[in-house]
Amino acid sequence: MSAAWSPERPDQELVNGVTDLFHAAWGFTPDAVFSAPGRVNLLGEHVDYSGGTVMPLALPQRTFVAVSPRTDGVYQAVSAQAEGVQRATLAEVAPGATATGWFSYVVGVPWAMAHEGLIDEDAAAHLGLDVAVDSTVPLGAGLSSSAALECAIALAVDHAASATDPTRALLAATSEGRRRLAAACVRAENEIAGASTGGMDQSIALQAREGSVLSIDCRDFSVAPVDIDVAGAGLALLVIDTNAPHRLVDGQYAQRRAACEDARSTLGVTTLRDAFDGAPTSERLTHLLADWERGAQDPSRNTSPAQAARITPLLRHAWSEMVRVQQCQDLFDDRSTVPRDGTRWSRLGRLLNDSHLSLRDDYRVSCPELDVAVSAAQKAGALGARMTGGGFGGSAIALVHGDDVSVVAEAVAEAFEARHLTAPAFLVAAPSGPARRET
Ligand code: ADP
Ligand code: MG
Repeated sequence: MSAAWSPERPDQELVNGVTDLFHAAWGFTPDAVFSAPGRVNLLGEHVDYSGGTVMPLALPQRTFVAVSPRTDGVYQAVSAQAEGVQRATLAEVAPGATATGWFSYVVGVPWAMAHEGLIDEDAAAHLGLDVAVDSTVPLGAGLSSSAALECAIALAVDHAASATDPTRALLAATSEGRRRLAAACVRAENEIAGASTGGMDQSIALQAREGSVLSIDCRDFSVAPVDIDVAGAGLALLVIDTNAPHRLVDGQYAQRRAACEDARSTLGVTTLRDAFDGAPTSERLTHLLADWERGAQDPSRNTSPAQAARITPLLRHAWSEMVRVQQCQDLFDDRSTVPRDGTRWSRLGRLLNDSHLSLRDDYRVSCPELDVAVSAAQKAGALGARMTGGGFGGSAIALVHGDDVSVVAEAVAEAFEARHLTAPAFLVAAPSGPARRET
């Protein structure tokens, strides 16, 4: 059998395609085309809502939106990935009462931008958009097609708002402006699309640096590029989209988030990350866990001993993942004393393997497909592999030698076939650029 690769189409083909789709839907040529990338997270999983640092990179796969502004407050959209025409005014958009499905990711963005004061109230009443969408980011694969769509729309709204008001500066022109657009996209996804999201996806889509992994401190969403040049070291980051069926997992995510919140309030810290009181280290982790277990017996605490025991493995994941992120940053830091040969790449591989075990056994967000993908990649020679994204399906990543990409992909595809699982799809992640205007 041969491994299936996600189709790669040149950006220009997508720009032309989405322009044609726009023309077919609305009968005229669009004013502009914007795009935003999907992402994959190298390390730092399920720590964004606990104030941890995440290390994503933008994928070459992007979502393109062709748009023209309207002056009647109407938003209407078609997508190459969805059926039918969607239409709404902002007055019809509200948490829990909006256009459902994919259109909520579109119309939620101007709604949130208006609520965050990023477009002024009068302008928001009149502003609208005709939209056509096309994308090479696989939908629902944990590679953040949702944020790619939101962030491309955010640039379109930003641009349309500035076009009608010459005194309004483009938010997309500055890093701080992009941070605020990302916050509005998070709000759109949480409140209008009704999906929990911690902020990593929107930050990387808007702030990515071509060629770099980004380190995002989720306490303040400050970003810094990290020099992890996978391709330069003759390696590749293989992404395995498991194509696992969607499972009912919303409650699972919310439960873990709530448990982390209980622990945070019991400990009296601003975020679980702040419990480290300095850089996260293994020594400090040991102390923190011992303190937590001792404290579990304290009757004055707001978590009962039984509750505290249930939270312990979740805390162990969150804190140990923060330590792994720190160790990864230290490995690739300018001041790192680890040799710049294969040593640090094999150490990175071990961090990925450990992250997977922690997510599987402590945080319990893996699933059979992710475990099969990770262990088959490891057996086929990957330096390291782990599930990435929220879990319960979605994608895994494997750090592999450049020459081994096909071999590892074949091995994973065969392992899926042997277990009668739906065939996975593959792509190679090369760090790409942020949301931008194309034409
Ligand atoms: P992920 O972000 O990992 O791909 P999500 O479940 O968060 O998964 O978001 C996927 C949803 O986003 C889709 O089901 C759809 O509603 C919406 N979406 C994303 N991209 C597109 C697109 N190109 N066209 C239409 N809807 C899209
Ligand atoms: Mg998403």
